[in-house]
Amino acid sequence: MQESSLITLKEKSVENNINFLKKKIGKKVKISAVVKANAYGHGIEHIVPLFEKHGIDHYSVFYYHEAVRVSESLSGEAAIMIMGWIADNDMRNTIQKGFEFYIFNVERLKTALEIAQQLGIRAKIHLEAETGMNRTGLNLDEFNEAIRIIKDNPDYIEVVGFCTHLAGAESISNHYRIQKQLKKYFKLLDVLESNEIKPKFKHVANSAAAFVYPASRLDLVRIGIMIYGFWSSTETFIQYLDNKVNKNDPLDRILGWKTQIMATKKIKAGEFVSYGISYLAQNDIVTAVLPIGYAGGYIRSLSNKGQVLLHGQFCRVIGVVNMNMIIIDITHISGAAIGDEVVIIGRQGDLEIKVGAFSDISNKLNYEVLANLPPNIDRKILSI
Ligand SMILES: *Cc1c(COP(=O)(O)O)cnc(C)c1O
Repeated sequence: MQESSLITLKEKSVENNINFLKKKIGKKVKISAVVKANAYGHGIEHIVPLFEKHGIDHYSVFYYHEAVRVSESLSGEAAIMIMGWIADNDMRNTIQKGFEFYIFNVERLKTALEIAQQLGIRAKIHLEAETGMNRTGLNLDEFNEAIRIIKDNPDYIEVVGFCTHLAGAESISNHYRIQKQLKKYFKLLDVLESNEIKPKFKHVANSAAAFVYPASRLDLVRIGIMIYGFWSSTETFIQYLDNKVNKNDPLDRILGWKTQIMATKKIKAGEFVSYGISYLAQNDIVTAVLPIGYAGGYIRSLSNKGQVLLHGQFCRVIGVVNMNMIIIDITHISGAAIGDEVVIIGRQGDLEIKVGAFSDISNKLNYEVLANLPPNIDRKILSI
């Protein structure tokens, strides 16, 4: 464990976000919490019990091993859906453990069938249709072949879901493409239903689609970024606010990240700070060193640009981000001492460093910053 910084998770925010999503999305639609990428950096083992406590009983992951981690984090029953990679070696355990998984090619269906026959149980599958994202999914020919295999093997295959993924619902510029995808999806659904295959869950929507295209909610929505308290894009948030009197963000960020001062130093005007010559002190300054660098998830492109909070005030990162340390300018703060708390992401006093600010400067997506948070930082749940 890397104890030089701490990620905090606010349970109240979990509760707030789930309640908001449930209210907006409606009782009839199942919410699947997307917990891939270590639950968007929050930590699967920490966040899943909180989601479970606040009423989530469906989880989506990318890898088989993430599904195992989710199932080990749960205390009760829940569905776990693998949307991505399963090594052939893991298919037996996948089926045996009752994990649901995407079928996006005929090869995988055949592998699953063979193993389900050996085990004498049904594999729970979600048929993924290619509708225009051109990433994974069955095209019409493959779809027809899959249907034949499924109809021949009702004792070994259960079609739990029929799904696709929309290529960018968070931006209006993709509107036409999304409409085309939805049309294609419903056409393929007709084919499925005319073959008497009626999946329990028809699903296409991620966070953005669930809000921008309410008709796309169908039976289940796969909610990632929003359950953690972020909008998929500024555009999605603005569209949500449209015509609303209350312009406050109904979502709360769950995650905070903090560290502490490791050392302080007085620097004379004319001295360079950190590696190289990217920062030259123009005046006499006071600096603090923080034990967090790019190896610990602090993005290197924040060199000379990032900000943190100390004593409720902003402090600038000066010089380049090192592997394990950054240096900040604390000249304007009196009485700062070794051990004082420094906020990297989150609130301190009246100010906040948002993941967004972090990502805007570094030209990364919220998604990317979160997904890159190291798994070996301690996580602590705050009941506030
Ligand atoms: C990641 C992912 C989601 C969740 O997307 P958000 O924008 O985070 O809500 C939904 N569906 C699939 C297939 C995904 O890969």
